[in-house]
Amino acid sequence: MTQKFGAGIWHFASYVDRYATDGYAPPIGMLDMIDRAGQVGDLSVVDLNYPFPGCDAPLSEVKARLAANNLSVIGITPEMYTRTFSRGAFTNPDPGVRRAAHDLITEAGGIVRELGASYVKLWPGQDGWDYPFQVDHHKLWQMSMDGVAELASENPDLKYVIEYKPREPRVHMSYCSVSRTLLALEKIGLPNIGILLDFGHALYGGESPADSAQLAIDYGRLFGMDVNDNLRSWDDDMIAGSVHPMELFEFFYVLRKNGWEGVWQLDQFPFREDTVAAAKQAIRFLRRVEAGLERLDFDAMQAAQDAQDAVEATRLASDALFGDLAD
Ligand code: FE
Ligand code: FE
Repeated sequence: MTQKFGAGIWHFASYVDRYATDGYAPPIGMLDMIDRAGQVGDLSVVDLNYPFPGCDAPLSEVKARLAANNLSVIGITPEMYTRTFSRGAFTNPDPGVRRAAHDLITEAGGIVRELGASYVKLWPGQDGWDYPFQVDHHKLWQMSMDGVAELASENPDLKYVIEYKPREPRVHMSYCSVSRTLLALEKIGLPNIGILLDFGHALYGGESPADSAQLAIDYGRLFGMDVNDNLRSWDDDMIAGSVHPMELFEFFYVLRKNGWEGVWQLDQFPFREDTVAAAKQAIRFLRRVEAGLERLDFDAMQAAQDAQDAVEATRLASDALFGDLAD
């Protein structure tokens, strides 16, 4: 099987933060971002923000640009985290804003159908709280679940994925961890909602990403994944493999061991780097991971794990990933 690679289209954007408020590079519209994604060469799918950033072209033109770059769309990410939703989308205290979020996400679902994409990606970055005593935690969590449940039951033909993250922009997000997200999905009980597991979010949330992946798989909810890297105290969205190669290798080992065959997607924010070059380097590393998985003796690893033999497991993994000294 040839591994498919993808990327969030925002990988190819230019970024602002609270210091470089005029951006780290000149602004770029989505059609040009699609061209940049095409230049990477190894990408076959992208995830698009909706509304399409810096692009008011008709959908036919977006389709044509994707086709010209040999790209298809895996997911649509409705922008339920921008200024309108700064006090929450599903959990906004204003029912009118909650309705606006619902309408925007419903519209995004229409684009998923039109483009034959796999899912609507929900990233409820503003749903949560900042201060002690700010919210009624019972009501907030209930609204977090209700917002997703309503969409999923209204659109049984669509899939929804929730990408959890500990915090940012909200100081504390409602969907902050794999276990909390799974609790919600178990309680909602609908088959068409899953998790998009972002390796970096698990890392900086204090999880072991391989364990998070196994848990999501065991509950039948691993619908997608993102990869990147960070220093574990923030969502730095650095180049995959640049900081935590062994944990990344273990993460993909778990996916392979379970026969999980989805797309390996990049979710990186190369603030100061060339965006195309940063994607190429990530894929170069991911190909090493692939090669490492081919070299890894899965039976020997299973035996080492059954004995919980840390030294033998580390030897097998590091030899497979980095090549043994005799090579
Ligand atoms: Fe992500
Ligand atoms: Fe992130």
